[in-house]
Amino acid sequence: MYMMDLTAAKYKEIKKSVDTVLLPIGMIEMHGHHCSLGTDVWIPREFVRRLDAKIGDRVMMAPEVAYGHSWSLAPFEGTIDISAEAFSHYVFEIGKEFHRNGFEQIVLFNGHGGNIPSLAIVTEKLADLGMNVLTINWWVDYREQILEITKGPGHGGEDETSLILAIDEKLADPTLAGNNQIKMNPKIKFEKSGLKLFKDGYLGNAGAATAEKGERLYEMMLELVISDLEDLWRVAYESLY
Ligand SMILES: [Zn+2]
Repeated sequence: MYMMDLTAAKYKEIKKSVDTVLLPIGMIEMHGHHCSLGTDVWIPREFVRRLDAKIGDRVMMAPEVAYGHSWSLAPFEGTIDISAEAFSHYVFEIGKEFHRNGFEQIVLFNGHGGNIPSLAIVTEKLADLGMNVLTINWWVDYREQILEITKGPGHGGEDETSLILAIDEKLADPTLAGNNQIKMNPKIKFEKSGLKLFKDGYLGNAGAATAEKGERLYEMMLELVISDLEDLWRVAYESLY
């Protein structure tokens, strides 16, 4: 179920049986010249839509956090960069509010790399409040399986572009992209180094993206997300570990 669709009375009723909330977290930023600025919002949103159809009776889908932190991509046109401090504080406050509302389990479903360090802090702070926290960075957590379908993943790469095409072919145009590989050592940072790291605002073999690959990625990852959720519920209800 979607929180946005519930009345307060229905919300109160649902909380008697649902104690897990999923918070999608994205970013508005440059994704090459071939993907929309909302790519990192569109993908979590599509995961939520598909998850809701399968397990929506057990998880309440919260409205997304669309703005995140992107130091690397900030020099590019179209990136709305919130500082890591403000962003992590804000997401923690949202999680804290869900805990106060009675939710014991929270899923932080992240769609953007620059959010990872902030969400690691949020995860620990929410766990310290007593919540069970499942944090998913899909392209990191399921990388091995992603590589079986798309060989050239990356920011705006073959995996992301395929996932966008599977939502709507009007949101991306892989003919505008090629195959951008990292040409500098990503461990080294300097002022606006993102401009050098992400040539044309993307990495990976975006030109090879197709909607069909995107559909296969969603189907594969949906099962993995559900498996992670089942692990979360085992921790919560069977006091595992
Ligand atoms: Zn992205």
